[in-house]
Amino acid sequence: MAGFLDQDIKFLPGVGPKRAELLAKELKIKTFGDLIYYFPYKYIDRTRFYNISEIHAQMPYIQVKGKIRSMETVGAGRKQRLTARFYDSTGSIELIWFQSVKWQKENLVLNKEYTVFGKPSEFNGRINVVHPEMETEEDKQLKPSGLFQAYYVTSESMKKKYLHSKTINKFQLTLIHLAKGKIGETLPAPLIKRLKLVSLEEALTTIHKPESITDLKNARFRLKFEELFIIQLKILALKHNRENKFKGFRFEKVGFNFNRFYKDFLPFELTGAQKKVLKEIRRDVNRNIQMNRLLQGDVGSGKTLVALMTMLLAMDNGFQSCLMAPTEILAQQHFQSISNFMEGMNVEVGLLTGSTKAKVRKVLHEALESGKMQILIGTHALIEDVVNFKNLGLVVIDEQHRFGVAQRARLWQKNELIPPHVLVMTATPIPRTLAMTVYGDLDVSVIDELPPGRKPIETHHFFENRRKQVNNFLQQQLEKGRQIYIVYPLITESEKMDLKNLEEGFRHISEAFPHIKVGMVHGRLKPAEKEKAMQQFKQGETRIMVATTVIEVGVDVPNASVMVIESAERFGLSQLHQLRGRVGRGAEQSYCILMSSYKISSESSKRLSTMVRTNDGFEIAEVDMKLRGPGDLEGTQQSGMGFDLKIANLGKDGEILKMARSIASDILSVDPFLQKEENSLLLKNIQSTKQNEFDWSSIS
Ligand code: ADP
Ligand code: MG
Repeated sequence: MAGFLDQDIKFLPGVGPKRAELLAKELKIKTFGDLIYYFPYKYIDRTRFYNISEIHAQMPYIQVKGKIRSMETVGAGRKQRLTARFYDSTGSIELIWFQSVKWQKENLVLNKEYTVFGKPSEFNGRINVVHPEMETEEDKQLKPSGLFQAYYVTSESMKKKYLHSKTINKFQLTLIHLAKGKIGETLPAPLIKRLKLVSLEEALTTIHKPESITDLKNARFRLKFEELFIIQLKILALKHNRENKFKGFRFEKVGFNFNRFYKDFLPFELTGAQKKVLKEIRRDVNRNIQMNRLLQGDVGSGKTLVALMTMLLAMDNGFQSCLMAPTEILAQQHFQSISNFMEGMNVEVGLLTGSTKAKVRKVLHEALESGKMQILIGTHALIEDVVNFKNLGLVVIDEQHRFGVAQRARLWQKNELIPPHVLVMTATPIPRTLAMTVYGDLDVSVIDELPPGRKPIETHHFFENRRKQVNNFLQQQLEKGRQIYIVYPLITESEKMDLKNLEEGFRHISEAFPHIKVGMVHGRLKPAEKEKAMQQFKQGETRIMVATTVIEVGVDVPNASVMVIESAERFGLSQLHQLRGRVGRGAEQSYCILMSSYKISSESSKRLSTMVRTNDGFEIAEVDMKLRGPGDLEGTQQSGMGFDLKIANLGKDGEILKMARSIASDILSVDPFLQKEENSLLLKNIQSTKQNEFDWSSIS
């Protein structure tokens, strides 16, 4: 039994070495198993027949029965085409072939009954079908294709070599025929029974050749459940394993510094959400188990402050802390705001970045080794590689990009002693279902409340024709002393083109506001140049900043209250939201202006209207996920777990995911290392790793 699905795809009848190569190259299908797990993206109901009189060009596809009464070849050479008039008792349509004209002409038979299947279109007021599928009664006998025809994604170069969806379908039918009785079960029998799942073999057969809607639903449910369940099992096993293997420092007391800061230094009241989160953290760090917590909250929701108070907690218990930022600018910003908060308190805060001078660095290193310095802020790489702490008790990671589960797993594994507590902060709100996967090994805290008194950012969408009014508005804001960001998208793959586009924008702006100093940053600048441009803006020397998305994670400039996003239709929703988060940080009313061309897709239009409607990052994240669909979500690729989902959709299958997670959790709580006989299939399942995937076999 073992090994059937591991066979080389070239041995499947009808495939052969050439097509095998193509399948491997284009779809990464190398084995029988790869093929059978290559699922259709849609099905068409071939039980439905239409009358020709009902057909109109807007139908996605049609299926009619009738006969060809006449055929003719039109044109010559490469423009040659074959047209046929096809009749049923209610009317006629035209069938057209541009390719294999000669072959079609020789093989099509006049006045013979055919089933015609294809996409109708309209030309000169007449309905036609280009390159229809033609089936005779005999054809049908030869290859029963099921009542629902499955469709598969194929690439351009496959189509060029006549490897179409239909060919894949044929391979699948051959394969499921051969596979009968050879596909072993991968889930434990009690689970299958309890959830009334169909067997794996049945699911894999039905998914390619469904006989009814109900069968298809059951098959899809089984496959989706298994996909999500195995991921959750892996993630939770990792979490269990970590909690089991690593003890944690205990921060028992809430001490002097924490209390002093809270009572005498904190210039405002904590929000309810901040208090709630601090309680969650407190509970974590007080139990001898390493904390691994994700702190989610929109920009400006007060995460950094929560992180700081956690650092004070560490300090009061005799531990050092560090905060790792993704960029030098962000590290500096954190350093500044934390130093401000700590002014007057007896706390040593240090900053370590690429541009820290050797002399200063030496002093820093000593202060960290001796324990004199309690808080270090710096860039990821520096802290991870260079620094020796006396007793590091807490690491705060401020995330730019999502760190995958596997990356995090590696992070502290080399540490043989007790690892520090880890608090990951992310300003990218993500939907719950995605959090359960990408961050599924972490406990999650959410700050879902902004500090009081914030004026919500006003967002507007304008087309190009309002450019003049927009410029007038910018002029007014400049006169009020405000500063402005103008962001340009990455328009092409070519950096050169982007730069040209940006520079043109820069010129236009400089011309439109001749008395204002305009700055510019983009990814091509050297770090020092970028830094300088940012600093000039921060200090108000330049009043307008023309930029690419490099400012997305950039500096905090409270006086910048207007964000103009050019060609906004080209940005993703979460990116737009991130960009907007650059403003609204000061006391003034802030604005976000989305400029777009007239011609935008309905999806772009939905993105822009969502931005105009709401400032709520979580709502935006949900819409984003629904719009973008599965597989295309930031984070799933970066997760390093190779879970490009084949069938489940995190946007739509939230319920299945929750169930999968809860069942996985139940199983692991009884049998954390899957050592029981009844779970042996599961152990095997999670240990069979693919290339590029984290090696899960190392976890037990
Ligand atoms: P985040 O890290 O989530 O982007 P910060 O912690 O940087 O947010 O906070 C943003 C701003 O709001 C800072 O200037 C901070 O001092 C301020 N702030 C944080 N918490 C509160 C609060 N509870 N009330 C008023 N202002 C707050
Ligand atoms: Mg912040």
